[in-house]
Amino acid sequence: MSADRPLPGDVVDDAIDQPFWDACNDSVLLVYRCNTCGTSYWPAGSCTTHGMSDMGWVPAAGTGQLHTWTVVHQRYSRSFTDDDKIVAVIKLDEGPFFHTNLIDTHADDLKVGLPVKVTFSTGDDGVALPMFRLSGPPQQ
Ligand SMILES: [Zn+2]
Repeated sequence: MSADRPLPGDVVDDAIDQPFWDACNDSVLLVYRCNTCGTSYWPAGSCTTHGMSDMGWVPAAGTGQLHTWTVVHQRYSRSFTDDDKIVAVIKLDEGPFFHTNLIDTHADDLKVGLPVKVTFSTGDDGVALPMFRLSGPPQQ
């Protein structure tokens, strides 16, 4: 990927999310979990029941199901120079919805509920971004 792609921290410094991006560099996907009730969130936020008092990052399985997607044909940045992008919403096995790119597949092959698995794409900039690819047949 091009070095001028948008990166974490380009918009605003975000100390609460830094552990998430550090874990991506180690190929680990994290979710933000309430340690009181065990509910997982992404992005980081407060528990809808218990607030922010006991929240923390924990490793996720890195698996989920394709919830919805769109195919982006228009290039909104010069850094996006390769094929059409599939922008997807993944329902992580831990519960949160995760916005990402779906790679190594074609939009014609997609169906709601397909199992997916995280992978990490490290660009020339050295930043690892979490993306997903299909991991098997649809779950019934
Ligand atoms: Zn909670």
